[in-house]
Amino acid sequence: MDLLYHGIIGYIISDLLYDKVFLHIIFVAMMPDLIGTTYFQYLVIKNSCKKTFKIFLKDIIKHSNKCIFFSKKDKIIYRTTHSLITLSIFMIVIYVKNIESFFGIFLAYLSHIIIDIFTHNNEFSTRILFPFSDFHIEGKFWLKNKKMFINIWLITIIIFIFVILS
Ligand SMILES: [Zn+2]
Repeated sequence: MDLLYHGIIGYIISDLLYDKVFLHIIFVAMMPDLIGTTYFQYLVIKNSCKKTFKIFLKDIIKHSNKCIFFSKKDKIIYRTTHSLITLSIFMIVIYVKNIESFFGIFLAYLSHIIIDIFTHNNEFSTRILFPFSDFHIEGKFWLKNKKMFINIWLITIIIFIFVILS
């Protein structure tokens, strides 16, 4: 799903678990995309035609819709941040550093991976065991399924309002 959506999920997890909002939990919920797609987004912009602003925007949308990486490097970065192996290593670091709200951080990261399993396809399908296995499920890409995208957002907004008011 989109970055804002993952942030909202982080907010809900933090509020439900601790009755207060930890910014670092929201950050961790968005982290796989913040780190994992930055280089890809840079390549999207770099490879988009800059003849006019309209063509530039069209090209950006075209590249984003394709769900195909530009190089091995952007593929590896994306798949690394969306792997349960990386999550395990990350949680060991959090545990060793004795960082507050361990379980919240774990759930925030895990929620990102689980949500992405079902909302991405093609080369962006979540490889949960990367780099050891290519195992993945072909999800439905949220950018191309308006109905699914709106339904997921609607349900989440209702939960979000309920969490804020409770
Ligand atoms: Zn993601």
